[in-house]
Amino acid sequence: MVFNTLSDMMSLIRVLESVTTSVYVLDSNCNQMVYGSFKESDDAANLENLGSELPDLHTTFHSNLSFSVSCVNSVVSTITKIPIVINKKSCFLILVQHPKKEGHASCGGEPADGHGTAFTDFLTKLYNRRYIDERLPIDMQSCFELDQPLSILFIDIDYFKNVNDQNGHVAGDQVLREISLLLQKHLSKKSGWIARYGGDEILICLPGRGSYFARGMAHRIRDSIENHVFCLGGEHVTITCSIGVQTVYKNSGITNISELIALADKKLYNAKHAGRNKVF
Ligand code: GH3
Ligand code: MG
Repeated sequence: MVFNTLSDMMSLIRVLESVTTSVYVLDSNCNQMVYGSFKESDDAANLENLGSELPDLHTTFHSNLSFSVSCVNSVVSTITKIPIVINKKSCFLILVQHPKKEGHASCGGEPADGHGTAFTDFLTKLYNRRYIDERLPIDMQSCFELDQPLSILFIDIDYFKNVNDQNGHVAGDQVLREISLLLQKHLSKKSGWIARYGGDEILICLPGRGSYFARGMAHRIRDSIENHVFCLGGEHVTITCSIGVQTVYKNSGITNISELIALADKKLYNAKHAGRNKVF
């Protein structure tokens, strides 16, 4: 399918939104989301028994068209990836379908707002937790389909409560924004994406990247934050962070994002336990 502009696609997208849980358009070169709409995640019925018995199914057709069935957090999803072209740019139209709760309307839901506020953390302007929950399963599945690794960096600021206590929450907010800008400098849009997980925790996702690359980036990030001069209330302050790095492959036995994040979180805990300002 070829469209001159995203607007030309909107009538098709509106129809797809009425029959599908989520609709996304991803730029296939830089992996950035061009368009996305979500409905509430509790649309998914609890299919625990079915989910645990269902094997993942991936089918790739011609021209990268693919259809997958998977079980993430006991919720069965189907993901259909359709190659399209918008204004000469190669993109994927991605349709995610979760089961509906009984009595749930099959259309409506949250108004689509393009790639605006629904995915953006208000304070840092990074992607938000909602983006992680929707995007990470897609990237995991795409990497596994292509037999590629996926790595995440789970970053937590050291003693951030002290920063707030000693300098106030406004200064704490400034530190969060400054660290977010520093992190963005380490990551080209093509390599992956950054999202605020919550509080002072930030997640970087590196689809297609293995442990060597991810750990190298984590060390550079740890270094650059330690060496950055934060100016809080006229004082120069040093702030550090701890990072847990986790890489997964198709055969790692990790099939959902909760397991992946739990592993990265465990490494982060070990980095904290080992004295902080460390990569584990
Ligand atoms: P640790 O080295 O163990 O991580 O110590 P910590 O003090 O950083 O502890 P923790 O990560 O548990 O604390 C996070 C703190 O971040 C708690 C909360 O006060 C603060 N915080 C969370 N969200 C925000 C925010 O949006 N702005 C500001 N200023 N502070 C926040
Ligand atoms: Mg912290």
